Amino acid sequence: MKINRNFDHLVENYLFADIASKTAAYIEANPDKKVIRLGIGDVTLPLPPVVVDALKKGADELGVKETFRGYPSYEGYAFVRRAIADYYGSFGVAVDADEIFISDGAKSDAGNIGDIFGTDNTVLVTDPVYPVYVDSNVMAGRRIVYAGAEEENGFCALPDDSVHADIIYLCSPNNPTGSAYSADELKQWVDYANRNDAVIIYDAAYEAFITDDSPRSIFAVPGARSCAIEIASLSKTAGFTGTRCGYTVIPRELSRDGHNINKLWYRRQATKFNGVSYPVQCAAAAVFSDEGLAQIRENLAYYKENARIISEAMDTLGIYYTGGKNSPYIWLRCPFGMGSWEFFDYLLTNAQVVGTPGEGFGACGKGYFRLTSFGDRDNTIEAVDRIKNLLKR
Ligand code: PLP
Repeated sequence: MKINRNFDHLVENYLFADIASKTAAYIEANPDKKVIRLGIGDVTLPLPPVVVDALKKGADELGVKETFRGYPSYEGYAFVRRAIADYYGSFGVAVDADEIFISDGAKSDAGNIGDIFGTDNTVLVTDPVYPVYVDSNVMAGRRIVYAGAEEENGFCALPDDSVHADIIYLCSPNNPTGSAYSADELKQWVDYANRNDAVIIYDAAYEAFITDDSPRSIFAVPGARSCAIEIASLSKTAGFTGTRCGYTVIPRELSRDGHNINKLWYRRQATKFNGVSYPVQCAAAAVFSDEGLAQIRENLAYYKENARIISEAMDTLGIYYTGGKNSPYIWLRCPFGMGSWEFFDYLLTNAQVVGTPGEGFGACGKGYFRLTSFGDRDNTIEAVDRIKNLLKR
């Protein structure tokens, strides 16, 4: 018996465990101090009322013989897929309901999509990176190349024709850097992918945070339908981190190596996935109703205001950062030339604020630091005041 030896090549990432243990040790040694966490990647506001009502109604229907439902379809109920197609239409992107697959979240889809691609493909990720893209491809044994996202390119890495890639993961607005690609920049990736017979896996988990004219979907970019798959999530859009629902869009005409990608993904899902529960799909559809969209907009506005408060402090302090505008993340250059972990310790010890060291997301994250806007307003204001007092010269 042999295990998948590719697991031997996973790099242990202790980032969040290290943050938790350092924070716990500090709190134990300083029980009188109030520690504020601006590192969390989870939402804190509750589900919008219209979503909760839909969840309850869906559960009630399951308890009545006439409305009971068993296994859902592998690709999700048509009523949710239609609601999502209409949502795309609301920002001017044409996507058909039969191009949408409902899932239990973007992490699963980002990790599982590799099932349909050969393991001898080369994968390109931007660095710093959401670790799921790297680890899921290491598990499959694929070669990974990195495109550096750095200050010089505004943390928006662009394609390089001298680098070969078959599968390209892009995330915009980006976790962790908060930067968002412009239409022109995305067009460069789309053209690269079409020229090189590559496929872009586009993670749009944070599209709802976009406030400027950055594309909300890769399918807003001409040529994307022949080279891209889009993965999205209700986690940050509507507070579904615990409820679990996401969706993946695969254009009907997308094909590679003589195979239709939409059909391959259906085959994969039909084999390994039995769908999302009916109440959760009712809740997801409710998000995209007029009332739902109005309610999630309020929650998003709350997080965006937190992001504005943090960004404003960075502006006042003259600290370089990206994000905060189209994103819940603020990615800053550590002040005084400190390293990521050095700044983590400095902030925890002197301001009792916890953030996330950038180097945990990749080599290009060295010397950077991530703050998030998912916290409570009063705590965010207090943390920002402490940071300002600490760092002002
Ligand atoms: N993609 C990115 C870029 C994320 O940051 C996250 C969560 O932090 C996810 C996907 C996971 O989304 P979900 O909760 O839908 O699995």
